[in-house]
Amino acid sequence: MMLGLLLARAGIHVTVLEKHRDFFRDFRGDTIHTSTLELMRELGLLEEFLRLPHHNVHSIGGTFGGESIRLGEFRYLPTDCKFVAFMPQWDFLDFLKRQAEQYPEFNLLMDAEAIALLRDRGRVNGVRWRDANAAEHEIEAHLVVACDGRDSTLRQQSGLPVIDIGAPIDVLWFRLERADGDPDDLLGRIDTGQVLVMIDRGDYWQCAYLIRKNGFEALRQRGLPALRADLARIAPFAAGRLDSALDDWDRLKLLSVQINRLHRWHAPGLLCIGDAAHAMSPVGGVGINLAIQDAVAAANILYSCLREAQEEGSAVSDSLLEAVQKRRDWPTRVIQAFQIRVQNFLEQQVFNAAGPVKPPLLLRLITHIPILRGLAPRLVALGPRREHIETPDTH
Ligand SMILES: Cc1cc2nc3c(=O)[nH]c(=O)nc-3n(C[C@H](O)[C@H](O)[C@H](O)COP(=O)(O)OP(=O)(O)OC[C@H]3O[C@@H](n4cnc5c(N)ncnc54)[C@H](O)[C@@H]3O)c2cc1C
Repeated sequence: MMLGLLLARAGIHVTVLEKHRDFFRDFRGDTIHTSTLELMRELGLLEEFLRLPHHNVHSIGGTFGGESIRLGEFRYLPTDCKFVAFMPQWDFLDFLKRQAEQYPEFNLLMDAEAIALLRDRGRVNGVRWRDANAAEHEIEAHLVVACDGRDSTLRQQSGLPVIDIGAPIDVLWFRLERADGDPDDLLGRIDTGQVLVMIDRGDYWQCAYLIRKNGFEALRQRGLPALRADLARIAPFAAGRLDSALDDWDRLKLLSVQINRLHRWHAPGLLCIGDAAHAMSPVGGVGINLAIQDAVAAANILYSCLREAQEEGSAVSDSLLEAVQKRRDWPTRVIQAFQIRVQNFLEQQVFNAAGPVKPPLLLRLITHIPILRGLAPRLVALGPRREHIETPDTH
C-alpha cells in the first residue's frame, strides 16, 4: 500500500492486489514506528493521520525474574515524533488507501489473490490472479513487486533461493483488560521458562506469549487452567483477570514465526520487498518498519525508470532492482542478527532455565552506559538506515 501510494503520487500507474476482502486482521502487528510517522510528516499527512484513534508508547522496559529494567525512552529520538504509535493495522492501511485513491493512477483490487507470475522470454511481465468467484484474470506490468508477506506465493513462484534461518519460537496472542494500577507502556516479562510481551493498547493489553516452536499441542494437553497458572506467575498483577480473558482456547491465536531472507531479491521484471524478501520474527516488533522502509527505498530508486517504462515501453533495468536490494539488505541483516541473538537467548537461557532468569550482560551495559542507552529505542523506533520520501507529487 505504501509503495502503491508513492508510485501513484509520482504519476505511475499501479495496481495493488489484496487477497482478502478487507484489511481487518486481529493480532496483525499494530506498530506505527517513529520512522513511519516521520514519513507521514514528509508527505504532509501527519496531522490528519494522528487524528485517527491510536495510543502512544513512550518507553520500553522489561522484567527479568522480577528485576525491572528500563530499556530506554523514545523522547530522546532525533525526530519530531518522540513516540511509537499503536493503531489497528486496518486503520493504517485504510488511511493509506484513502490517500492513494486520490490519485487516478492508483487501482486497488480487493478479494484479488495473485496466484502465478506471467513470463515472456524469461522476464516476468505480469501476474495471474483469482477473484472472489474463483474466476481467473491476468494483469500485465512493467514490474511486479511481490509484497505478499512471509508465505509469499510470488516469491515461491519466482524460484529465487531462500536462506532459511528458522526460529525456535511461536507466538500465542491474546487480549487482557487493563485495570487501574497496571504498569505503563511496553513491557517484556521474562522468567523461568516463560516470556510474555504486553503492549499497552489504552483500555487493554495486547499480549504475546512466546512458546517453543511447535509447542502449542503440548500446551493444549496440559489444559487452560495450567496455562492460566503459568501466566499468573509471570504477570501476577493480571492474575485476577485471566479466568475471564482465557476461558476458551479460541481466545488465543497461534502465529508461527520464521526468519529467512532471499539471497537475491529480484529477477528480471520482479522485485520482492518486505516479508516476501525477508520474513521477520516478531522480536523487537520491527518487521513493519522494515517493510515500509523497503517500499520507500523501492519507490525512490525506481520511479524515474518506471515513468520511462510507462511512457516509452522500456524495460525496468535489473541493476536498479539490484540497487533496491543493496540499499535494504544491510538493515535487514542487522535486524535479523539482533532477532537471532534474542531468540538464542530465549531458547538457551529462558526456555531451558533451571533457576531464575537474569538480564543478559549486554542489556545491563545498554541500560547503564549513557552512550548506549539510546540504542534500543532507536533500533525499535527508527531501525538502521532510515529512508526519506524522494518521490515527487506530480499532481
Ligand atoms: C506473531 C507475529 C507478530 C508480529 N508483530 C509485529 C509487531 O508488533 N510489529 C512489527 O513491526 N512487526 C511484527 N511482526 C512482523 C510483521 O508482521 C511483518 O514483518 C510485516 O507485517 C511485513 O509486512 P509485509 O507488508 O511485507 O507483509 P504482510 O504484512 O504480511 O502483508 C502481506 C499482505 O499481502 C496479502 N497477500 C498475501 N498473499 C497474497 C496473494 N497471493 N495475493 C494478494 N495478496 C496477498 C496479505 O493478505 C497481506 O495483506 C510480527 C510477526 C509475527 C509472525
